[in-house]
Amino acid sequence: MLQSWLDPKPIEHLYIHVPFCAHKCEYCAFYSEPSKGDVIQRYVQALLTELSLVAPDLNPKTIFFGGGTPSLLTMAQWTQILNLISSFKWNAIQEWTVECNPATVSLDKARLMRDGGVTRISMGVQSLDKSLLERLGRVHSREMVFKSFNTLREAGFGSINLDFMFGIPGQTMETWKSTLAEARQLNPEHLSCYEVIYEQDTPLFDQLQAGDFEVNEELNCAMFEELVDSSEAAGYHQYEISNFARSDNTVGGIPSFACRHNIAYWRGSSWYGLGPSAAEYIRGARRKNWSNTVLYCEQLEKGKRAWESEEKLPALARAGELAAFGLRMNAGWPLGEFKRLTGFEMASEWKTEIDRLISLKYADLGSDHFRLTRQGLRYADWAAELFLKTE
Ligand code: SF4
Repeated sequence: MLQSWLDPKPIEHLYIHVPFCAHKCEYCAFYSEPSKGDVIQRYVQALLTELSLVAPDLNPKTIFFGGGTPSLLTMAQWTQILNLISSFKWNAIQEWTVECNPATVSLDKARLMRDGGVTRISMGVQSLDKSLLERLGRVHSREMVFKSFNTLREAGFGSINLDFMFGIPGQTMETWKSTLAEARQLNPEHLSCYEVIYEQDTPLFDQLQAGDFEVNEELNCAMFEELVDSSEAAGYHQYEISNFARSDNTVGGIPSFACRHNIAYWRGSSWYGLGPSAAEYIRGARRKNWSNTVLYCEQLEKGKRAWESEEKLPALARAGELAAFGLRMNAGWPLGEFKRLTGFEMASEWKTEIDRLISLKYADLGSDHFRLTRQGLRYADWAAELFLKTE
């Protein structure tokens, strides 16, 4: 049987990494650097080349510009990118997201994106508390969030995600509740809320190591419970550990304003990843671009993709990885879809692991699905690791 991840039809998902930020945040381990005009223009040219190289094998249903800060690109640079994408005459795009920083949203730029086909904006807010925004090293103020949100609506965006963080050093339950309440008053279609992760080589990690503050696990758990309960009560349905969406109608446990692009990752689709540090997964091969903008540009200027690494995973290892990704979603895995995609029976291949999770009340196995319970979702990273296999 031809496994559907090896399907030869054009790839349906595209990720583009824009590796520039006005200033590096205290907690950030993404590949991004403070912006410099000449480097950004060189990057845009390289990206246009990379887009042209992969376009013949693409007919995307979803496009996602992440970063970094894609909204930092100028109107002229966005025009170049939008014109090239328009020239491909892709006819299947259902969702096209661009990540924005509240400090870099203007009405002209938002309109340019909307007119160019962008359908969805994801805005990195992180907190609506002034002192916590400073603590995180964010360049925007809370006032900019409200102003930019209104600007995006004025430009015609009917699908907006706001990103938040909890477990920030110094954050109390009261500030978390009031941030969530203010966020919901804006009535966005989607909320993404992540617990702070202490990544090596970030100032926040160094401060933790130096004993400047301690992580309060109990408070972080309580903040997560508050997030899930208050979001559901307000009509935001949790469809993945950290993601909540409003819904006109819910199909297969997925609310209508869910991020289709991220679901494609969790459900094992192939995608192209362009730009420095971007990862891609195409028909069984996983590749990653250089996390270095100059090296990336040099390769593209020679007319070549800028891969730093390439790996072909054995089928069972890839299936285990997919099992782990899909368990992040509340709907878990429809067993038939998993079999169709990977060729493996989840319930028999991972019987020991599944029995263990069920005995802990962390999971639930039905005739057609396997999923984590609400309690199990809290430990999803640990549960996911049980499914990772090598051949
Ligand atoms: S804006 Fe986002 S990508 Fe840029 S430094 Fe901050 S967290 Fe990292």
